Amino acid sequence: MSRLPGFLSGVAALFLLVLGSGAGLKAAAPEYIGVAEIADDLGLSLTWTEPNRSVRLSGEWISLDFRAGSKISVLNGIKVYLGQGVLINQEKLYLSRKDWKYSLQPILMPRIFPNPPGYRRVVIDAGHGGNDPGGQNRSLGMSEKDLAMAVGKLIGARLQQEGFEVSYTRTSDTFIPLKTRPALANRAKADIFLSVHFNAASESVRGVETYIYTLQGDPSSSRSKINQDDRKLYPGNASDPWNALLGFYLQSELISETGLADRGLKRARFAVLEDLNSPGVLLELGFISNNQTAQLLRSQQYRNRLADAVVRGVRKYRQTLVRLHQSNP
Ligand SMILES: [Zn+2]
Repeated sequence: MSRLPGFLSGVAALFLLVLGSGAGLKAAAPEYIGVAEIADDLGLSLTWTEPNRSVRLSGEWISLDFRAGSKISVLNGIKVYLGQGVLINQEKLYLSRKDWKYSLQPILMPRIFPNPPGYRRVVIDAGHGGNDPGGQNRSLGMSEKDLAMAVGKLIGARLQQEGFEVSYTRTSDTFIPLKTRPALANRAKADIFLSVHFNAASESVRGVETYIYTLQGDPSSSRSKINQDDRKLYPGNASDPWNALLGFYLQSELISETGLADRGLKRARFAVLEDLNSPGVLLELGFISNNQTAQLLRSQQYRNRLADAVVRGVRKYRQTLVRLHQSNP
């Protein structure tokens, strides 16, 4: 797209209006790309679904929604969190070029990224363990650490049947410090890292979310302002495009399998993802604090379905990488 002179300062002012606080943007003034330009590049049609607010790009295989002031884009029905809110200026929507490049293009056009990673070795990291129970549902006597181990092993067994080499950061009820987990994965030369968790919150909260490591210079999905850590580049950022691709496939498969609320493909600076030398995600496979979800999670059948959904996501990721390696030997 053409860069509009004087445009960024206007956008910065607008950003302040829309999101309330644009301290990071004022300092960094990142570049933006028009949503209309993305539509042209991809050959998609652009429709305003709400005047001056929301836009949908659509084509044969793609539907992609943006909303002014929102960090949530919706790609083929799945929420994909952007690092920065979408801006509106003179009746046009814009998103940061960084989001276009590292949040959406990896999913829509992974072949533009050089050096596709490997896809053979999977390290499964069952969250918590030992004296750290993680989330709990006391009325049903359930702990996140036990569920994560049980479902993690189901995922591992299925992936092995699919031809992946699988190892674990823990296979028993032991405490492993957060920083040790990516170190173990790196030592095992993981190609794919899956950290398995279940949320806990107030009883009414439900749904599934997948986390990937936050991009350099962006705030995590739970914040709008950037902090000191956000400015640094971490080993996990070397896999930015592949994290997004893997995370999107997993979140899509999990939502279609469970029918639970889609809480989105989100970004966080989780310690288990920070020092990873491979693509990786942290899966939050449901809220054990919600009694209906917790009852489901007690059943072996439901755990199998969850594991199957994760395996389908990883399989899709492998299929894409196989194609990329073939076209990019
Ligand atoms: Zn957890």
